[in-house]
Amino acid sequence: MSAPQHRLLLEVRNLEKVYHLNSGFLQRIARQPPLNLRAVGKVSFSVRSGETLGLIGESGCGKSTLARTVLRLHEPTAGSIAFEGTDITKLSHREMTLLRRRMQIIFQDPYASLNPRKSVEEIVGLPLSIHGIAQRGEIRDRVVAMLESVGLKSAHLGRFPHQFSGGQRQRIGIARALILNPSFVVCDEPVSALDVSIQAQIIALLGTLKRELGLTYLFISHDIGVIGHVSDRIAVMYLGDIVEMGPTRELLRSPKHPYTKALLSAVPQIDAGPKRERIKLTGDLPSPLSPPPGCKFHTRCPFAIERCRHETPALRNLEGDRMAACHLVDEPR
Ligand code: ADP
Ligand code: MG
Repeated sequence: MSAPQHRLLLEVRNLEKVYHLNSGFLQRIARQPPLNLRAVGKVSFSVRSGETLGLIGESGCGKSTLARTVLRLHEPTAGSIAFEGTDITKLSHREMTLLRRRMQIIFQDPYASLNPRKSVEEIVGLPLSIHGIAQRGEIRDRVVAMLESVGLKSAHLGRFPHQFSGGQRQRIGIARALILNPSFVVCDEPVSALDVSIQAQIIALLGTLKRELGLTYLFISHDIGVIGHVSDRIAVMYLGDIVEMGPTRELLRSPKHPYTKALLSAVPQIDAGPKRERIKLTGDLPSPLSPPPGCKFHTRCPFAIERCRHETPALRNLEGDRMAACHLVDEPR
């Protein structure tokens, strides 16, 4: 799959999200010091219309925060988010509600994200009634059509989430996200909670829906196998920053950033490309409350030099639509 050279659908610039911990009333009267957790730090990337941008990184590196901030489900601390040419960080609550029809999210855990007391008809039809888009009689028809396109049936309308399997529940979550005809969909670990055999079915379904409905995806996973399969381009995140980005095939064949190399070393190499360097990740992910100075990866990087300990590498443009944030990229070692 090569990335279609389409117009930009989403352009994110220097997006930052800081969570202020200890800022509650009880913490204030207990005089606890304020804690700032920079979950996403000055991230820039764009998504082209019709492509799937994969976002990968270890658990806790800020993928969900980035996704939710891009949709303004969490308010950004700084930065801009241009969607279809409009900076959505400047929109009022009302304007944002209208725009939200075009930007939707599929969550990891269909168990937690579906209201257990609502029927499938209510869950999938709710966005239509909230947005006042369809009349009562019409809603059922639209819901039935949507259920059929995600592989469910009209017989399921009156059933409740607990009456479905995990895979079927994710189909309900997908139907709910797509009922408003969005153009951009964030898939936040949509298969991570499912059995491997079911994962393949849901990934295939998301691919079919993308083609049929002309969708654009930001697809998040901590699984490089899944990301490699679904993405046109891949962005690699480490402790709140994008450290590498590029077209899928090239990035998997010749990763530039040591962190990407380490992620790929953990999985067997299946393509026929040149043998990849194998790097073992040592140590734990540092706390985002006190990230290491310089390159945040230097504490786990087998190649780190003195410069990496105090100078933060910028995400630099490399050949062939590729980017990496590493002092040692393209320098002999
Ligand atoms: P990922 O999706 O990559 O696993 P998250 O975006 O969920 O990562 O989390 C990134 C960091 O932000 C973690 O350290 C997490 O504890 C913290 N975090 C996430 N959500 C919140 C929140 N609502 N309030 C405070 N901290 C949060
Ligand atoms: Mg997450």
